[in-house]
Amino acid sequence: MDIQVMPIDPARLRPPLSDNYGFCIHFANRMFTQRYTRGKGWHDARIEPYAPFAMDPATAVFHYAQLIFEGMKAYRRPDGNINLFRPMENARRFNNSARRMAMATVDEEEHLAAICRLIEVEHEWVPRQGDASLYIRPTMIATDTTLGVHASASYLHYVIISPVGPYFKEGFNPVPVYITDQYVRAVHGGVGEAKTGGNYAASLYAGEDARQKGYSQVLWLDAIERRYVEEVGAMNICFVYDGQRIVTPPLTGSILPGVTRKSVIELGRHLGYEVAEEMVDVYRMLDDVKAGRITEVFGCGTAAVIAPVGKFGFHDDEIAIHDGEPGPVAQRLYQELTDIQYGRAPDPFGWTYTISVNGH
Ligand code: PLP
Repeated sequence: MDIQVMPIDPARLRPPLSDNYGFCIHFANRMFTQRYTRGKGWHDARIEPYAPFAMDPATAVFHYAQLIFEGMKAYRRPDGNINLFRPMENARRFNNSARRMAMATVDEEEHLAAICRLIEVEHEWVPRQGDASLYIRPTMIATDTTLGVHASASYLHYVIISPVGPYFKEGFNPVPVYITDQYVRAVHGGVGEAKTGGNYAASLYAGEDARQKGYSQVLWLDAIERRYVEEVGAMNICFVYDGQRIVTPPLTGSILPGVTRKSVIELGRHLGYEVAEEMVDVYRMLDDVKAGRITEVFGCGTAAVIAPVGKFGFHDDEIAIHDGEPGPVAQRLYQELTDIQYGRAPDPFGWTYTISVNGH
């Protein structure tokens, strides 16, 4: 892929943020874009100034939500170079989402090369503080400008990047989670396993409802029986039995196959935990929490990495987990994973992909 790096007006260059990042509020000066036209394929790959898109009000994405995205991070290594974490997993998932949403697919190697090129150009935007990183948001939207309901023949693929601090303002403190059996996020046969905007739009109402009740995330149950645990907010979920057995729900098609989830399974086994992918019945799970058989619960995802759950709300009940304190398994996994991501520890799995910006 030939990527053209467009000039940028020096008067529009903003210096990289060095503190108070928030979460994806400020974006780097440049973005990657390329366009797809049926019959022609992908063309006009560019790194260009970050700017609003001018779009026709009839553009397909605004009406039928034909869009996909990814979420990944770049981490500053102690030697000044930059790590991506399992970026080909995200590239593969991007294409899986594209296929499910009847969109054009990308060349996965070229998609990764475009991300790397953008980060090389904007490397000063990768924070140097320990718990901060650069969030990467590859996106694809349908750009046909007719209101017919069919798969678009043209797409815009772009990547924007933003320095981020820790995801939860609570830090590594356990989050309160509300279990809803009133609303559902996704159904088998639907688009739950694709990273597409509609899944998130569908989750907002229940999220607001939970916040009003004093909880910061929603735990989703399966749509049919409203009984089997699926995922929590924008994270997969794990339960720790007796401090040594980690259980996470299987990928049944209605939950997102998380890269962090996959890494927790592999790292967990490597560290000597027993790890199983099993259906988790919410009623039994709550009994196991109350009886102390479940000793920890945590969410896992790129944004927060590992987020301990401090309590569940369900109907009118409130159930504390591990006395509301972060547990040792979550803390250990968080430490081990972030040490690999930031290049502070050896990476026996070959998960990190280093972008050299330092001459090393
Ligand atoms: N589930 C949902 C709905 C998500 O949006 C995410 C986050 O991206 C995850 C799970 C975790 O996936 P990953 O670990 O790849 O970030």
